[in-house]
Amino acid sequence: MRSVIVVGGGISGLAAAWQLRGRADVTVLEGQARVGGKLRTGTIAGITVDEGAESLMALRPEAVELAAAVGLGNALRDPAQSPTTIWTDGALRPLPAGHVMGIPTDPAALIGTGLLSPEGVRRAASEETLPAAPLTEDCSVSAYLGARLGQEAVDRLVEPLLGGVYAGRADRLSLRAAMPRIAALAEQGAPLLPALRRMRAAGAPRSAAVAVQGVAGGTGRFPQAVARACGARILTGTTARSLHRLPGGGWRVQAMTSDGPLTMDADAVILALPAFAAAELLRPHSPLAEEELAAIPHASTAVVTMAFSRARSHFLPQGNGFLVPAVDGHTIKAASFLSNKWAWLHDSAPSVFVLRASIGRIGEDELLDRPDRHLVRTAIAELHHAVGPMGEPLAARVTRWDRGLPQYGVGHRERVTRIREAVGKLPGIAVCGAAYEGVGVAACVATGRNAAKEVLADD
Ligand SMILES: Cc1cc2nc3c(=O)[nH]c(=O)nc-3n(C[C@H](O)[C@H](O)[C@H](O)COP(=O)(O)OP(=O)(O)OC[C@H]3O[C@@H](n4cnc5c(N)ncnc54)[C@H](O)[C@@H]3O)c2cc1C
Repeated sequence: MRSVIVVGGGISGLAAAWQLRGRADVTVLEGQARVGGKLRTGTIAGITVDEGAESLMALRPEAVELAAAVGLGNALRDPAQSPTTIWTDGALRPLPAGHVMGIPTDPAALIGTGLLSPEGVRRAASEETLPAAPLTEDCSVSAYLGARLGQEAVDRLVEPLLGGVYAGRADRLSLRAAMPRIAALAEQGAPLLPALRRMRAAGAPRSAAVAVQGVAGGTGRFPQAVARACGARILTGTTARSLHRLPGGGWRVQAMTSDGPLTMDADAVILALPAFAAAELLRPHSPLAEEELAAIPHASTAVVTMAFSRARSHFLPQGNGFLVPAVDGHTIKAASFLSNKWAWLHDSAPSVFVLRASIGRIGEDELLDRPDRHLVRTAIAELHHAVGPMGEPLAARVTRWDRGLPQYGVGHRERVTRIREAVGKLPGIAVCGAAYEGVGVAACVATGRNAAKEVLADD
């Protein structure tokens, strides 16, 4: 049986291991003490909550299908239905129904919401009458949507959602990579709003916010379940340090464990790693892949999770949470009211209210240099302004995701093509992960599955 080493035990690597089950002898090397990467649960006030990703995209099938296949089908849960809400101008303001990634398909519905100025609403509505030359090359989200809808709509409606998903900024993120459905419409060269309305009338695209699912007990259970079910040998606390090509074919991985160095050989190696970590291992074998991978910027973020006593808090917020426009100058970029959003969490700890605030977009590293207690105080103070005085939390914890989210800059898709071409010249090597075709868990699962198919096809 073909032997495969998967380096990286996040959901991408585990999805690859699952795809290879029964068809290869698989070993997963994971540097941390447990698998899962950005899917991880932790406890606060004795309650298990997600510290990283809290939901799976259900608009595309890969993640929910895999969750069901590894025995979590009965644990998949819809979030409470609640509109996407923006904290701006001193209040929480729901985005009108019908938006697509913040793009208002019916700008008139924005009137009176306080989300845009009257001039901003008029400017967005004028999109339908603007000439629309077909988009021929990639540009930033801001360049395209700013020209179509006006900068105010980008700053106040679109960018908060991009901040939530990518911790990214609209003037840096690629339209083609970060908003592929919008880019596809732009390439047709027709006004956007009527095209989006037609697509919605035909049943798609729905807003991502109503098309996610979580896992009861925490979405962090998902990678653990895949690891158990995939039948692979899982070596945690094992960091791959170098990759060597064997003269007779195949590859050697040299790793470091708490017991000392470990050397393993295999027919194929899948690098299921953040781009910068894959770049290190590929440097001796493909300077081009190394250079392109190392050029992908990453945003660091921190998640501040807090538990409040329901009995002692004067006030608890409604809804699922909110997003914050970067132009408003607040520190938190989003808040998720976990106890409202996930019924399983409320039911498991009815006397406690758990929420989390996210801090840190690309370019905001100095914010994250501050100590945990500072981030907690800032989050409490801003939540107080946004939703009301909740009082002091029973417990708070800060989870830092250093370089946690790759940024799909302008030209990202072409960069990924170059990376895949360069890696394709190394027989028995495949790459997968959040750096390539989507940062969401479902996209990561898809890249893991594809990497497994690639190394099997090399046979
Ligand atoms: C705070 C946060 C919230 C998010 N929320 C959502 C969400 O709600 N929904 C959603 O769909 N997506 C969300 N995402 C994005 C999504 O979680 C990630 O993009 C995805 O989980 C990445 O999976 P991965 O396997 O590609 O990478 P990772 O999870 O980074 O896994 C890579 C693994 O490789 C290991 N590793 C690194 N170097 C080595 C080495 N040399 N040797 C061995 N092991 C190594 C790491 O320890 C890690 O476990 C969120 C991301 C963050 C940071």
